Amino acid sequence: MGDTVWWSCPECGSYAELSAEESAGFAISCPDCQGPMASQWSWEDTHHAA
Ligand SMILES: [Zn+2]
Repeated sequence: MGDTVWWSCPECGSYAELSAEESAGFAISCPDCQGPMASQWSWEDTHHAA
């Protein structure tokens, strides 16, 4: 509980932060391009390209 999952969109690079409970078992669609988003449990990896 309290776990946060970062979702990233490989299509447009958008990020979304959702609770693990909220996103568990769901395919998250990108709010910007409606593409499938990929979960990033180790969100630190997503910051190196900034
Ligand atoms: Zn997108």
